[in-house]
Amino acid sequence: MAPLTDVSSHPSAAALDADGMRELVRKFLAEHDPAAMDRTDFLRARFDAGLAWVHFPVGLGGLGASRALQEAVVDEFAAAGAPDNNPRRIGIGLGMAAPTILRHGTDEQRSRYLRPLWVGEQVWCQLFSEPGAGSDLAGLGTRAVRDGDNWIVNGQKVWTSMAHEAQRAILVTRTDPNVPKHQGMTYFLVDMTAPGVQVRPLRQATGEAEFNEVFLTDVRIPDSDRLGDVGDGWRVAQTTLMNERVAIGGGAQPREAGMIGVLAREWRSRPELRTHAMHDALLQGWVASEAARLAGLRLTQQLAVGQPGPEGSASKIVYARLMQQLSGLELELLGEDGLRHDDWTMRRPEAVDFASKSPGYRYLRAKGNSIEGGTSEILRNIIAERVLGLPSEMRVDKDVAWKDIPR
Ligand SMILES: Cc1cc2nc3c(=O)[nH]c(=O)nc-3n(C[C@H](O)[C@H](O)[C@H](O)COP(=O)(O)OP(=O)(O)OC[C@H]3O[C@@H](n4cnc5c(N)ncnc54)[C@H](O)[C@@H]3O)c2cc1C
Repeated sequence: MAPLTDVSSHPSAAALDADGMRELVRKFLAEHDPAAMDRTDFLRARFDAGLAWVHFPVGLGGLGASRALQEAVVDEFAAAGAPDNNPRRIGIGLGMAAPTILRHGTDEQRSRYLRPLWVGEQVWCQLFSEPGAGSDLAGLGTRAVRDGDNWIVNGQKVWTSMAHEAQRAILVTRTDPNVPKHQGMTYFLVDMTAPGVQVRPLRQATGEAEFNEVFLTDVRIPDSDRLGDVGDGWRVAQTTLMNERVAIGGGAQPREAGMIGVLAREWRSRPELRTHAMHDALLQGWVASEAARLAGLRLTQQLAVGQPGPEGSASKIVYARLMQQLSGLELELLGEDGLRHDDWTMRRPEAVDFASKSPGYRYLRAKGNSIEGGTSEILRNIIAERVLGLPSEMRVDKDVAWKDIPR
């Protein structure tokens, strides 16, 4: 397993700046005309040229360059009208599975999975939460038992976003119930089309069923799809969770992107809705959004090579708070119109998408922002303990074997 700093770099990667990156993209486009090429072939070629995620190693879609240069690459491809990999559809793969595979995977796993993941040929989902293990993820009970070169998995997962679209999943299981809960877990990469994987929709307040229950019955996973060592699943899962918080709440965004942009456009185009109180609330939201955006930018730059740490939890808390505040403000601004939620039919979305939906959808869906990826309470605990160094919660079961914990 390669340590994180051991990313192979393009010989000139250290010397590249944003202009240099743009130049590389223009050269690539001169040889690969997006208008004349099949979309998948174009994206595969972009990956092979190291222009997928520039901070990844050479040979794995990157140039070993600074993560901060990614924005220039994305902008240049967009300006040329090139197709993208539909990041909303493959967000779990990009934001969570990929950094975990990069950090903990073997060379074979990295080569096999990262290219189809980035290109969007394989959608990934996250099989972590269970009916009895959400915030307390280490309490999970899905069992994986070794059988020669395979593992046989039985259990139930819940709240699995986009499992109905996914071909692959990241999965945490219990492999040893006789040791304290954090020590007996193992992490796998799973084929969602394997026999024994059953996906059932869970309908949400929005009307959509964006997430699912997933039942695993005697699912066989080859040992070659184990990520990290047996018993090391908690540590591997931490990489996923830290990345998840940044993927949900962080990242470099243009000014007035996201919810504040939606609200500001509404404000500008409909002067008849304005009041002084609304103006005040909008300005406060705008300033808070801009502060959050700049903090996200700083975090992205700090992450130039490394992995996110517990600091990403703060971005995610602020993101959730702003999404809820601003989607509420949008309803207030729109008055009666805002109360109409236009579509209650049961739908199975292809992606989580706030921008193209109605205000009612945004208001209802934003409620989940303070739960998904770690609740705001849990993230406050993480900040208290791991950023501020405050005393930790009393964990009475931390030395007890998992099988002996009353449940
Ligand atoms: C929209 C959405 C998408 C999701 N997608 C996925 C997915 O794709 N894959 C996946 O695996 N999971 C997913 N989840 C599940 C999510 O990770 C869990 O819901 C979350 O971790 C909380 O777990 P829980 O629901 O079991 O609540 P619980 O853990 O039972 O928490 C209940 C309440 O108690 C509080 N609480 C619990 N423990 C503490 C503590 N120690 N200190 C203070 N307060 C505490 C919590 O903050 C919460 O308010 C998704 C959830 C949502 C809403």
